[in-house]
Amino acid sequence: MTSIEKQKIADFLDLAQDFYTSGYKGEKREYHFEDDAPAAQSGTGNIDTGGVGSAITTDKTESLEKIAAEIRACYNCSLGKTRTNAAPGEGVLQPLVLVIGEGPGADEDAQGRPFVGRAGQLLDKMLASINLSRNTNCFIANVVKCRPPNNRDPYPEETASCAHFLERQITLLKPKFILIAGKIAMQTLLKTTDAIGKRRGKITELTVGGAAYPLLITYHPAALLRNEELKRPAWEDLKLLRSKLDEIKGGN
Ligand code: URA
Repeated sequence: MTSIEKQKIADFLDLAQDFYTSGYKGEKREYHFEDDAPAAQSGTGNIDTGGVGSAITTDKTESLEKIAAEIRACYNCSLGKTRTNAAPGEGVLQPLVLVIGEGPGADEDAQGRPFVGRAGQLLDKMLASINLSRNTNCFIANVVKCRPPNNRDPYPEETASCAHFLERQITLLKPKFILIAGKIAMQTLLKTTDAIGKRRGKITELTVGGAAYPLLITYHPAALLRNEELKRPAWEDLKLLRSKLDEIKGGN
């Protein structure tokens, strides 16, 4: 709405109030209205690294709480019917690192929080080993926000339906670095069928909403719990991440 349209409505309401309260037209009140910002655009497609699409937003009311509330009220795919609690994500704003996993498991579904089960506890330890934490400098999210039944992989229609939430979170959070945990998150976000062994351990980029974020892919902590041999390469990945963060000003 333009400032002129707002002024006309205000004048009309003032007039109505004057007649209602006194029966006479009162003094004209002074207002200083501004034109509204242009409407938010979404899905404008701006992917170079096979990234997650675009959610450029100029919506000044956008916030993590608003996105979380929409996620909790979302029934756009079948996961909405079977979940107990959605797990929108948690951590700090403008994090040094945004960690993106696959989707909630049983513990996350029960608590409505990401990575709180065994894999989550290992993730917290891995992050702590390089001075990172969801309490101080990270945000933890998933590609799907609701638990796939029996821990199956999310279906493509489920990841597609949920994608705009993560795009909006990334656009708002503006992480200095993104760490993708596991094959499903990697394949979803980079739109690839590559095996994780081919892509992990290399610094690349993910473009979301026209902004490019440095990205590292590593093994999912649940995979490390299943296969001890993945721990060493995962540790190499973490050291690489730490060295890249150290190059970023204020990377602590
Ligand atoms: N695995 C994930 O990918 N995400 C979680 O939140 C928990 C387990």
